Amino acid sequence: MKYHRIIRGILEGNLRSRPYRLNISLTNLCDSRCKTCDIWKIYPEKRFALREELKTDEFRQLFRKLPSSVMWISFSGGEPHLRRDFVEIMAASFSEVRNIALVNVPNNGIRAGRCTDHWREVLAIRKRPFIHISMSIDGPREVHDDVRGVPGNYDSAMGALADIQEMIAREGNASIGIGLTISKHNYDKILPFAREVLTLGIPLKIEAADSGDLYYQGLSPDARPDLHHEGIRDTVREILALQEKMQWRRLSPFDALARNHVRGALRFLANPHRLVVPCRAATSNYALDCYGNVNPCFFYTVGLGNIRNHDYDLLALLRATQEKLGKARETIQAQQCPRCWHVCNSIDSMIDRKLRRPWTLFDV
Ligand code: SF4
Ligand code: SF4
Repeated sequence: MKYHRIIRGILEGNLRSRPYRLNISLTNLCDSRCKTCDIWKIYPEKRFALREELKTDEFRQLFRKLPSSVMWISFSGGEPHLRRDFVEIMAASFSEVRNIALVNVPNNGIRAGRCTDHWREVLAIRKRPFIHISMSIDGPREVHDDVRGVPGNYDSAMGALADIQEMIAREGNASIGIGLTISKHNYDKILPFAREVLTLGIPLKIEAADSGDLYYQGLSPDARPDLHHEGIRDTVREILALQEKMQWRRLSPFDALARNHVRGALRFLANPHRLVVPCRAATSNYALDCYGNVNPCFFYTVGLGNIRNHDYDLLALLRATQEKLGKARETIQAQQCPRCWHVCNSIDSMIDRKLRRPWTLFDV
């Protein structure tokens, strides 16, 4: 892990009001059938056009022009491995983003062969940042396959996870864990699974399901399902206790952030009308969708502009949209955005809070 790059990015980002983290959606293609996310329906329902997605060379141009503060890119989708140019995009981000230190990518593990082939190539790249790979698994076999709507997905995802663990043991400078989304569909059936995962020593990241824009693009908020259940909070609390005991090390700053993310989730679930900490979307981080649209985050999609209209230069886009950007920042500060507590933004929001208010070091 290149810690100096991480520190440089955070300091430069904060001192010069530049982003140090980007959330980039690579595609809206998805071969899953999740009950907690609608992205897989986008192309069958023709909500957007696949041909409009950014091409490999467009990503390369974007990466080349990013400011030196950017040290962390979180890629997402859709299912990133459905892009045939997945390896090229990863390699381009490694070679073109000047200060890159950290990349993370979720996987649904449905096409396990393609997923492991891609990671074999990517992990073998010699000059690359630290990579965290997250395998999405929402519970034990029958629960996961039901929530995800794809029979056999649990087995394929667990198989891919085991293969990638072996690759990481060989190549180093990477990690893999399980990303577990908790919703009304699984909250009461996942505790033994969480315990088993932690007993096996597999890092676990939990997230409460959300019906925000990221998962229901093109659908009006009224048409989105309610994924909540009051039991979710109890489940999060119980998994947090397990993670405290079995997963996190006391002195690791990364584990401290992961722990505080879960604590923050509990606070947010208790009162979703109030942000847990001041959100740093539209300051320390931005979201770029697979069509090139830039937004403060994937949940507050005010449309700051399209990167294609600004020669793939993020800073030029932000300069050209000062007025809109200012309003978006005011709205976020006033907590009038859709409000969320998602790992896409919580980590950098917590880091920046501690920089500004060091006495919150041991709080969320
Ligand atoms: S949660 Fe992931 S795997 Fe499921 S539909 Fe959404 S993008 Fe696809
Ligand atoms: S709180 Fe959530 S919805 Fe609001 S700006 Fe931050 S990340 Fe976006």
